[in-house]
Amino acid sequence: MTSYSQIIAHQRDTEALGKIMERLGWDQETMMPEGAANQRGAEMAALEGVLHARRTDPRLGEWLADAKAPDAMGARALELIARSYRRNIKVPADLAQKLAQVTSTAQGVWAAARASDDVAAFLPTLSQVIALRREEAACLAAGGDLYDALIDDYEPDTRAADLAAMFAAMRPRLLALRAAVLAAPAPTPLTGHFPREGQLALSRKMAEVFGYDFTRGRIDLAVHPFSSGGGDDSRITTRVAEADPFNCLYSTIHELGHSCYELAIDPAYNFTPLGRGVSMGVHESQSRIYENQIGRSAAFCDYLFGAMRDQFGPMNLKTPRDFARAVNRVHAGFIRTESDEVQYNLHVMMRFDLERALISGDLAPRDLEGAWNDRFAADFGVAVPRPSLGMLQDVHWSAGLFGYFPTYSLGNVYAGCLNAALRRDLPDLDGHLARGDVAPATGWLRERVQVHGGLRPARETIQNACGVAPSELPLLDYLEAKFKDLYDL
Ligand code: ZN
Repeated sequence: MTSYSQIIAHQRDTEALGKIMERLGWDQETMMPEGAANQRGAEMAALEGVLHARRTDPRLGEWLADAKAPDAMGARALELIARSYRRNIKVPADLAQKLAQVTSTAQGVWAAARASDDVAAFLPTLSQVIALRREEAACLAAGGDLYDALIDDYEPDTRAADLAAMFAAMRPRLLALRAAVLAAPAPTPLTGHFPREGQLALSRKMAEVFGYDFTRGRIDLAVHPFSSGGGDDSRITTRVAEADPFNCLYSTIHELGHSCYELAIDPAYNFTPLGRGVSMGVHESQSRIYENQIGRSAAFCDYLFGAMRDQFGPMNLKTPRDFARAVNRVHAGFIRTESDEVQYNLHVMMRFDLERALISGDLAPRDLEGAWNDRFAADFGVAVPRPSLGMLQDVHWSAGLFGYFPTYSLGNVYAGCLNAALRRDLPDLDGHLARGDVAPATGWLRERVQVHGGLRPARETIQNACGVAPSELPLLDYLEAKFKDLYDL
């Protein structure tokens, strides 16, 4: 066997074991009996040990030194495997283990602290997670910026300084748009009772409309919706609130974007590092364009208005336009995941600045609550009433996911670029969306983005799809046009 084929064979099994790990995680959130939590922790820790040993196997270093790729796909696979190998050998095994163990326990501590609005109960654990992630970042950064080293796990080749510049360009236009929208008369919200079975039936219908392959996927319930897996097995979850069917519907459509991406990747890439979404930002671009630029478009709302009436009977909203205004309602709120399109990126900017300061050491964990509340008051004009609506709302920091938040905004920016290109190429798209026909849009995304998986780096993936370099401008233009229309500005 050549070094190249040794590497590919080794990677194939590592990828397969990684998929089993994901399946265990899916089961934990959907099916697992509550009493099995400790045992599951031990099972996952054992598998994590096997995975870590495979990813840092010294033979990989030897093979990589003289491997020759037969083609472009092989060259990219080698590049990604080498990148992961170099990253993993920089972190001592005992530090990696300690991080896995602490972040796993920390999520339980965070959930309990959030339930009782008790910041003090979370602070020692948060401090420990931050200290360990800083230590890990120091191993990875080799004298460079610690936060940049952490971003690299989620969005390779992206630097905090570039993200800060992107946010600085977005902020004034978003603030101006929000001010204009909030000064206008507020749309009537959807009210009523929407039984669980009807919401789940409509969710399933949305999955069919968006072309989800039920022979390789499924929908289950979870507290926090997510998608999981890839290759020939990618699943989604959703949730139901009987007073708010949009929560269920748009959670489903969002996760469908993630899952359809995974299922559309060229099967030739399966069990290689090309066989999954290329970065968190590109992944989020697929979920966000399904959810927002397609699912929340006025045209698709025409269709959804009828589908909702068929499912639930007459609603308090009498016209498709009132319905679209309710779907896109901009409202004051404290929770990022419930935020509208206008304000969502402002939530992310705040987390980006705070976590960057936590990792650099400029902000001590004990000062985080004050810093959060001050920043929220400055950015959103209201005081945070309790920590579960403030710094305790997101799971990310307990899970050690520092550097992850900005990928949500990158996803929005990339979705904006893709939407502009999509509408340039398909000028009659709205006519299709109004009939519930999203196939032209999903087909375009499949062919331009999804099928390529990890073949190209993230920005190149978007540039290749759109024909122009990614920028925040198409997203801002889209938001201004959409909300000026919906709010009659
Ligand atoms: Zn997402």
